[in-house]
Amino acid sequence: MHTANEIRRVFLDYFRKEGHEIVPSSPLVPRNDPTLMFVNSGMVQFKNVFTGQEPRPYVRASTAQKCVRAGGKHNDLENVGHTARHHTFFEMLGNFSFGDYFKERAIPLAWNLITKEFGLSPDKLTVTVFSEDDEAFGIWKKLTGFPDSRIIRISTSDNFWSMGDTGPCGPCSEIFYDHGDKIFGGPPGSADADGDRFVEIWNLVFMQFEQVTKTERVNLPKPSIDTGMGLERLAAVLQGKHDNFDIDLFRKLIEASAEISRTDPDGVHKVSHRVIADHLRASSFLIADGVLPSNEGRGYVLRRIMRRAMRHAHLLGCKDPLMWQLVPALVLEMGQAYPELQRAQAVITETLKLEEERFKVTLERGLKLLDEETAKMQPGAKLNGEVAFKLYDTFGFPLDLTADVLRGQKREVNMPEFDAAMERQRATARAAWAGSGEAATETIWFDIKQKVGASEFLGYETESAQGIVT
Ligand code: ATP
Ligand code: MG
Ligand code: MG
Ligand code: MG
Repeated sequence: MHTANEIRRVFLDYFRKEGHEIVPSSPLVPRNDPTLMFVNSGMVQFKNVFTGQEPRPYVRASTAQKCVRAGGKHNDLENVGHTARHHTFFEMLGNFSFGDYFKERAIPLAWNLITKEFGLSPDKLTVTVFSEDDEAFGIWKKLTGFPDSRIIRISTSDNFWSMGDTGPCGPCSEIFYDHGDKIFGGPPGSADADGDRFVEIWNLVFMQFEQVTKTERVNLPKPSIDTGMGLERLAAVLQGKHDNFDIDLFRKLIEASAEISRTDPDGVHKVSHRVIADHLRASSFLIADGVLPSNEGRGYVLRRIMRRAMRHAHLLGCKDPLMWQLVPALVLEMGQAYPELQRAQAVITETLKLEEERFKVTLERGLKLLDEETAKMQPGAKLNGEVAFKLYDTFGFPLDLTADVLRGQKREVNMPEFDAAMERQRATARAAWAGSGEAATETIWFDIKQKVGASEFLGYETESAQGIVT
């Protein structure tokens, strides 16, 4: 069996042998892009290399990049626990060519790795290309001998990548693994493609053009390659599992969660264990990179993730804070590949514990209130937005936490009412602003920093205290 740790190594070794520089993952807080909440793909740290603004001593690189998709354009938070393939935190394995090789090399490199090195059966694979990309279609055809029906032409933005309204852009080609007809979902491009049967494992982006203005697009003099493959998805395939949460790494975390909470890992609490394992990774890696829970920006995304996990710990019947007790299991699994986890272990532990202790009382009271409210409601009715706002404002329930509770009952929040309540409160706050209670919160975090030590607190490679202030 290939463990997740082995797969990462095999991937990087393969591209090293193919003349790629192995570059460490960048921190999750982007250094070069204030508009981006978190690093969400392997190419982020190379943005300026692709555009030629930043020279590097190599033209080929390969990485295992830490990614978080829990805010902004890519947000998979709601998917976690409900699909077999989405995490908030995951590792993206990638190879990059900066004006060096292009499609003719990138496609065979990928194909050779998954079918030869990793031994995947071509019978289980289907690929897509952008509808206009005859070149990629031809390369795939020659390489695989697939019938046209398994080199699917897609005309949507799923197969055309761009950095923004202007800048480098180009067609993509994606590789899908067919987990078999016992699982719901149609092939890529079909009406029910969003199931978990055909799982996208690898996305190859061919940066071929530059969008100069809204209407003008020119050929890049030196086209580039950017690819991304989810380590957890590949591990699932290689370990004969359908579900990412059944791979070795997640099993270890789920078993730790089950053991400490004395519950069955696979019974009625299955979803809760998955959410906890996923959110443990996201929270710990974010904290290691200098993000701390707060009420705005990145810190609020972290807080939302942490509080969601705590609600699930509550569902398991945990009387004591749970998340911090799982940190050793995570460090054991991932600390070698990501030493920043080891370095930040103390601050991760303290932060998880403190947040959970502080939230516990209002979590319980808020859930009780929510139970009382939903008991009174007609089937299918939306939750009064005022109640959701009270939970948010008085009990510290991020809106998505309330939504997550309601989802289990097939209910939603009445959003216009919630928004109105929020707006009313903002107006009042603006009128009567005289410092806020947040000062006390910040002091607590400052105390942790003092206790644990600033260098560990900052995490590795963080250039400034940016992540702390959030
Ligand atoms: P999907 O369509 O399944 O949501 P995507 O098209 O959003 O995936 P990309 O942006 O192309 O994904 O990212 C490249 C690769 O990263 C994907 O092919 C997949 O293997 C992996 N990946 C993307 N999002 C996630 C996630 N939330 N959790 C785990 N792996 C992911
Ligand atoms: Mg997606
Ligand atoms: Mg996709
Ligand atoms: Mg994709």
